[in-house]
Amino acid sequence: MFRTCAFCNAPFDGDGGPSGLGVGRRLAFDEWRGRLWVVCSKCSRWNLTPLDDRLERIEVVARAARDAGRVVAATEQVALIRWERYDFVRVGKPLRVELATWRYGERLRTRQRERMKVVVPLTVVAVGLGIAANVAAGGGLGVFVWNLHRLVDQAYIGIVGNRKVVLAEPPICAHCGSLMQLRARHVQHARVVPDSHAEVAVVLSCPKCRREGAHLTGSDAVQVLRQGLTYLNVTRSGRRKAEDAARVVDQVGGPDRLLHDVARRELTLRSLRPERRLALEMAVDERAEVEELERQWREAEEIAEIADGTLSTSEQLEEEMRRLKRKIGDQPSG
Ligand SMILES: [Zn+2]
Ligand SMILES: [Zn+2]
Repeated sequence: MFRTCAFCNAPFDGDGGPSGLGVGRRLAFDEWRGRLWVVCSKCSRWNLTPLDDRLERIEVVARAARDAGRVVAATEQVALIRWERYDFVRVGKPLRVELATWRYGERLRTRQRERMKVVVPLTVVAVGLGIAANVAAGGGLGVFVWNLHRLVDQAYIGIVGNRKVVLAEPPICAHCGSLMQLRARHVQHARVVPDSHAEVAVVLSCPKCRREGAHLTGSDAVQVLRQGLTYLNVTRSGRRKAEDAARVVDQVGGPDRLLHDVARRELTLRSLRPERRLALEMAVDERAEVEELERQWREAEEIAEIADGTLSTSEQLEEEMRRLKRKIGDQPSG
């Protein structure tokens, strides 16, 4: 079995878990077509495993996924399943998709780590500056320390809010005609709206004229939502516990229903209740991840079709050659 990625040469992480491959932490499988891939953790490309004993391995992985895995998110074709420390990506139409517990806690911890990366250095700088200023002014240190937390907090929120929203093509405002240069904080005035042609659609307010000036769908809408919600959810009022958000999703009946529900009400992101906002952010995140997986799968399946197809053809050819040789050998010489 290969140990490194065929696309980027990076060594695979993980030990393959139940697959017995000995490598891989994220494995993708298709029971119907008989495909098994190791997904590279570095470049995310899908490495098709050797054909030999693939079907057995798929069987074992599929069973682990079915019996003990949690479906984290799913599209029509792709489901992301967590099992112990492995990720299984099941492709092809599953028998039944169950949306189980979400990884809320995990998401929030990641965010907390990201926050600390900014907050700690900021605090160090602020403490230095503050002590110098306080000493110069002859003020007490207590008041300063009390304010420090708030100060750094605001600085962090400012940084997140100021992040550019990166879109392939920046939208142009339908009212004032200006190119919308969006920052994350501008998105708080956006609204999720129903759209008969798209899963996710967003109406944006123009940062210049402040009127609703653009309508985004698909991956652009998702990108805008993710950044806007991240900003809103780091603000003081936005900080809510993961469990509250989980309950919200359960109550409406899953992340897709939540998205539809929010779209139906057409409220601005800012006016959503904090736990709902957090739930929406997570729903959008999971969606984006599983959509990306679906894209990767389509690409990997194209390669697999060629690789496996060629293999079976050449095997057939060899078999045919052997048969012909035997035939020739059987013929009496002379
Ligand atoms: Zn790779
Ligand atoms: Zn405008």
